[in-house]
Amino acid sequence: MAKFFLRKKVGDRVANGHPWIFGNELGDTDGTAEPGDIVEVYSYNGSFIGKGYYNPASQITIRLVTRDKAETVDADFFHRRIQEAWDYRRQIGYVENCRLIFGEADSLPALIIDKFNDYLVIQTLALGIDKWKPAIVDALKKIFRPKGIYERNDVPVRELEGLAQQKGFLTEPFDTNIIINENGLKFHVDIVNGQKTGYFLDQQDNRRAIQHIVQGADVLEGFCYTGTFSMHAAHYGAKSVLGLDISETAVNTARRNAELNNFQDICRFEAVNAFDVLKQWVKDGRRYDVVMLDPPAFTKSRENIQKAITGYKEINLRGMRLTKPGGFLVTASCTNLVPPDLFLKTIDMAAKDARRKLRQVTWQTQASDHPIVWHIPSTQYLKFLIVQVI
Ligand code: SAH
Repeated sequence: MAKFFLRKKVGDRVANGHPWIFGNELGDTDGTAEPGDIVEVYSYNGSFIGKGYYNPASQITIRLVTRDKAETVDADFFHRRIQEAWDYRRQIGYVENCRLIFGEADSLPALIIDKFNDYLVIQTLALGIDKWKPAIVDALKKIFRPKGIYERNDVPVRELEGLAQQKGFLTEPFDTNIIINENGLKFHVDIVNGQKTGYFLDQQDNRRAIQHIVQGADVLEGFCYTGTFSMHAAHYGAKSVLGLDISETAVNTARRNAELNNFQDICRFEAVNAFDVLKQWVKDGRRYDVVMLDPPAFTKSRENIQKAITGYKEINLRGMRLTKPGGFLVTASCTNLVPPDLFLKTIDMAAKDARRKLRQVTWQTQASDHPIVWHIPSTQYLKFLIVQVI
C-alpha cells in the first residue's frame, strides 16, 4: 500500500481528528497508488496517522477512514461501520427514519445514507467511497433486509471527483413514492424526484419546536418544500397556514401531504418566488402571527459568503416586517459556510433595519442523527432560531 507523508508545517487539524488532507499538505510518497485506492498517511517524521482513500484529481486528495494501522479496509470494515452507526442511532432514540450515515461524522467521508422506514437512499460523493458501493449495498442488505435501496448520486459535487452524476435502483425496482411518519404526522417522500435524498430529516426536532407558538395563529411559511413545517403548524393548532415554494413539484407534494393528514382546510400552498412575493406583501401591509423561513443555502463556496449574508438579511428583514408585533419569526440556515455567530449577527442586522426588538425563544441545530463532531466544523451546518418579534 502506498505511503504518503505530510509536509512538516501542516497544522494540528489532521492531528485533532479532521479526516481531510489537501493536495498542498502532502510531501514525499513511497510507492504508487491508483485514484480511489486506500493509502497510508504518515507525518513528516514517519509516525503513522491513518488510512484513507486517495484521489489526485480532487483538492481533498486523501480522506481518512481509520486511524488504526491494524484495521484493514475491506467489505467487513464497511459492514462494521454501518452497523455501529445504526447501533448509535438506535441508542439515541431513532426507530423509523434517520440519517444513518452522515459522512465525516461517521468516519465514512463523502458517504450519505438516509433511512426512510424500510427504504435506504445513498449518495457516494467521492471516488474512494464510490468504489465501495457494492460492499456498502451488501452490508445494508444484510443489516436491514430493506424493501429497496436507491442511489441519488445526481449531485454536481461528484464531478470534482471525476464521477458522473447518476441515479437509479441498487436493488430490484420498487415503488419510490413512499410515506414516512414523523412526530405523529405522515409525509409523502419521492425518493427519485425529491430534493437531495427526498426529505429533510435534519429539521425533525425543529419542526417540533414550533408547537407552542402556532396555536390559533395565522402562519406564513416561505420556502416550504413539501410543507413539513406547515403541516406541523396545523397539527399544533394553527388557524391558517400558507406555504410558498418556487417548485411546482414540491407544492404539489405539499398539497398531497395536507390531504394525507386531513389539513386541507387549514393549509394552502402556492408555487411562487418567495423573495418577490414577500416584498410585495410587506408593501401591501399583510401581517402574520408566525412567519417561518428555511431558504436554500444561497452559496456553495466560501467566495460567496457575502452573497449568502445579504440573502439571509434581506429575507429575514421581510419576514420580520410581515410579523405582527409580538408574533414569532422561525428562521433557519442550512449552510456550514455561515457559522452560528455570523447567522445571529445577520438576523440582528435585519432586526435593526426593521426597527424591531427580538426576544429569543429557541436556538438549536440539526437533529442528532446528523452528529456534530468536534474539530470537524463542516459537521455543524444547520442553524434554527425562533424569536419573538416585538
Ligand atoms: N423547510 C423545508 C426545506 C426547505 S429547502 C423542510 O424542512 O422540508 C428550501 C426550499 O426553498 C426548497 O424547497 C426550494 O424549492 C425553495 N426555494 C428556493 N428558492 C426559492 C424562492 N426564490 N422562492 C420560494 N422557494 C424557493
